[in-house]
Amino acid sequence: MKQRHYSIAIDGPSGAGKSTLARQLAQKLGFLYVDTGAIYRTVGLHAKRSGLALERAEQVVPLLGSLHLDIAHGEDGLQHMYLNGEDVSEAIRQHDVSAWASAVSAVPAVRAFLLELQRDFARTNSVIMDGRDIGTVVLPQADVKVFLTAEPEERARRRYLELLERGQQADYGTVLKDLLERDQRDSTRAAAPLRRAEDALLVDTTGLNLEQSLALLLDTVEGKMAV
Ligand code: C5P
Repeated sequence: MKQRHYSIAIDGPSGAGKSTLARQLAQKLGFLYVDTGAIYRTVGLHAKRSGLALERAEQVVPLLGSLHLDIAHGEDGLQHMYLNGEDVSEAIRQHDVSAWASAVSAVPAVRAFLLELQRDFARTNSVIMDGRDIGTVVLPQADVKVFLTAEPEERARRRYLELLERGQQADYGTVLKDLLERDQRDSTRAAAPLRRAEDALLVDTTGLNLEQSLALLLDTVEGKMAV
């Protein structure tokens, strides 16, 4: 008998805790965690390294043919990204790559290029996929859809601490400003903008620590899957 695969879509703005929570939830449920932001970041890094200008990100389109993307999931549930054979999992986390990811992700041909790649994971696995358009475009039939958010100042604070932890230089004011700009760009673009799917459950983690957020998310997801 064909095995039934489940899919959980988690969308929301940056710094809401999507990737950390989704990874932990995936571990608890035994699902594969797919971080789609990392895929856009890899394309963004390719554009940056190719010497393009950020405001001309659409020029990445002719370069997609020579872009070789590999995605590997380790035993630990961590997703590794390879760009033309090089492991760029760390490089894509540099602060400036966020803006590149956001810029290339507004290009419709880039989104079309990555769509089937993302859907393929859900065809062959039970998945938790996080991003901006998973519940609306990539997996509109997902079993559970969550829109995960928190107040911008709190999201910026988390991003700031994360950058410091990675040993990167960071300034809270700049992180907040960049995050608000990215939210604005991601929500107002024409191609697959960030928005809550009508049937997505809203989970707000403002004022909650990681453990409390995970408990709330697990509760929400289990409640929905039990229906
Ligand atoms: O989630 P993360 O912050 O790593 O995503 C980086 C950028 O990639 C986002 O700001 C967004 O512009 C883009 N993205 C997207 N659609 C997704 C995931 C990420 O447009 N499904």
